[in-house]
Amino acid sequence: MTSSVRRNLDPFLPWPLRHLTESIVRGVNKMTDCIFCRIVNNRARAVIVHQDDQATAFRDIHPVAPTHILIVPNKHIESVNALEAEDEQLMGRLFRVARQLAAQEGIAENGYRLIINTGAYGGQTIPHLHIHLIGGKPMRYPMG
Ligand code: AMP
Ligand code: ZN
Repeated sequence: MTSSVRRNLDPFLPWPLRHLTESIVRGVNKMTDCIFCRIVNNRARAVIVHQDDQATAFRDIHPVAPTHILIVPNKHIESVNALEAEDEQLMGRLFRVARQLAAQEGIAENGYRLIINTGAYGGQTIPHLHIHLIGGKPMRYPMG
């Protein structure tokens, strides 16, 4: 629904319905603006290494190690701060995909790092929850 259609309908809608249409439009706009949603929906290019009904994984465009893959939920979740109880199983799936990809990339045995940056201080630049799978060389310390 476009915002002009919604604006024309607004005077005829009872308040709770108006509120609902607004939040639907906001959600749709977020999804169409979000680069990771676009990759998930095949509307932006990426090197996809895994996709299933809940998760998508693709190579980071600025890799910091020989393996640098991002694992994301197919549905738009802004960050760890936005997780709901119903997302518990989904988060398990993301980690299972990370583990499978680590094995596939041949980095499982030597070890790797999984990172979820959250919010401004956490260094999150893309507001669609993602796990970084980084490996293929020893990781540096200290973190932070
Ligand atoms: P973060 O800073 O934790 O939000 O991580 C965002 C990551 O997404 C960075 O490592 C970027 O290099 C990566 N990135 C941004 N845009 C794209 C893209 N179009 N395709 C693949 N990776 C991307
Ligand atoms: Zn998104």
